[in-house]
Amino acid sequence: MMKLNLTPPLKRSFWQESIDSPPPTPALQGTQKADVAIIGGGLVGLWTALTLKQHEPDCEVVVLEQDVCGGGASGRNGGFAMSWWPKIGTLQSFCNTQQALFLGQSAEQAIHELGAFCREHAIDAHFVQKGWLWTATAPAHVNAWRGTLEACERLGVRPFERLSPQEVRRRTGSTIHLAGVFEASNATVQPAALVQGLRRVALAAGVQIHEHSGVTRIQTGQPAVLHTEGGQLHANKVVLATNAWSAAIPELARLITPVNSAMAVTCPLGEALEKIGWAGGESITDSQLMVDYYRTTRDGRIAFGKGTGALAFGSEIKGLFSDDAQSLAMTRADLLLTYPFLSQDQISHGWAGPIDRTYDSLPVFGHLQGHANILYGIGWSGNGVSPSRLGGRILASLALDRQDEWTQCGLVGRPCKPFPPEPFRYVGGNVVRKAVIRKERAEMRGQRPGSFDCFLAGLAPSGLEDKSTGGGR
Ligand SMILES: Cc1cc2nc3c(=O)[nH]c(=O)nc-3n(C[C@H](O)[C@H](O)[C@H](O)COP(=O)(O)OP(=O)(O)OC[C@H]3O[C@@H](n4cnc5c(N)ncnc54)[C@H](O)[C@@H]3O)c2cc1C
Repeated sequence: MMKLNLTPPLKRSFWQESIDSPPPTPALQGTQKADVAIIGGGLVGLWTALTLKQHEPDCEVVVLEQDVCGGGASGRNGGFAMSWWPKIGTLQSFCNTQQALFLGQSAEQAIHELGAFCREHAIDAHFVQKGWLWTATAPAHVNAWRGTLEACERLGVRPFERLSPQEVRRRTGSTIHLAGVFEASNATVQPAALVQGLRRVALAAGVQIHEHSGVTRIQTGQPAVLHTEGGQLHANKVVLATNAWSAAIPELARLITPVNSAMAVTCPLGEALEKIGWAGGESITDSQLMVDYYRTTRDGRIAFGKGTGALAFGSEIKGLFSDDAQSLAMTRADLLLTYPFLSQDQISHGWAGPIDRTYDSLPVFGHLQGHANILYGIGWSGNGVSPSRLGGRILASLALDRQDEWTQCGLVGRPCKPFPPEPFRYVGGNVVRKAVIRKERAEMRGQRPGSFDCFLAGLAPSGLEDKSTGGGR
């Protein structure tokens, strides 16, 4: 028997609040059965469900979601649809060249496919494919992309374009940007609208979705039995698409640590974005480990996020991952530093959410030890909006016991550096996090950080991109 932790609904994001939500689907009642049960109605769960139906239309696929679909990270993220090229070095650390190229190219292709999927199904998810600017906002971060670009060049791919510092400042509308490179394939979406569209398409394909149906216990065996407050679901295969909530299962807690990411959204800024020059729809990140990520919205706002890295004892998904005042204050401060023409009272929305971070910031797929029928796909590490489509393919193929390029890809059953158990996880994690904050604050002031802080910060999990250290133009 395995216990899972349920959470009251997280604070709704700007994205969720600005669309009309459909009525929730009925909760699970009584005893039912499924060929494949998916726990979690986020992007990973929904893509898995849809892919299963595409492979085998008669397969009985049931999604159980404790809140409503998109109530987790999928409806509250930055909406950056990114590739895995910024992680090519890490991919190569556990994949052979051919595999790394396959995953890099598939992740880039997934962004184009996301746009095509939205067009095909008339999903107005505000898909805007205007590329991503990976920038440096501290002298020490200039050229952070060097190793990544060199790794791409060695593989014969050139997803990044080098830009002059002037061009970066012009396109971002902020002099804080000292340098940068551009990846043209990247896009942005309205994440809650994307989930809602995907949910609609999944329902139309015959996927059964039960919202407000949190799974409290998994009775292992064949079939496995999933228990909710109102019912039981007997399933031949179970897919855990439970993002950071997966840390409730000790075996999976070794693979991920839930960390906070927070977002602040401004009111519509009228012509201000045109005036500063950020009118091209590009998404932007800096090169901090506690990354700042920002994009514009269809109605002319700035949506600005920060990976604040805050941790909860026991990795429980509670208030810290919904609406954390300290994380929001850090995020607002960085927003105002980046765009000093803004004032606090122009920030209209703020919320937080959980990131399921692996040590190397790439996901991992597999089955629970001794339970070949319980699969998982976790560790998106802040880049799941577009790659979740690939995750859906991998999990669907695993659930159907297919032997294909997805079940055989390098992310399945890969080696992962484990996180320590409590209390070392929380106590040690906080020591490292505070060192990262001190280090990055010093770097942002153009100062040299203390060497002990650099040592401690070096113990942190890697970030959204593989970065070369040392800076230098
Ligand atoms: C603030 C923030 C900003 C981000 N920005 C970006 C970005 O710009 N680009 C990007 O690519 N990624 C971003 N991410 C990450 C991205 O949102 C995730 O990687 C992606 O949504 C993962 O989808 P998922 O389906 O795994 O998780 P989720 O959407 O969290 O889905 C998991 C679901 O499982 C449900 N669940 C958990 N336990 C149970 C249970 N016992 N029973 C039933 N249901 C359960 C939860 O309620 C939840 O809905 C961000 C994340 C956050 C929090």
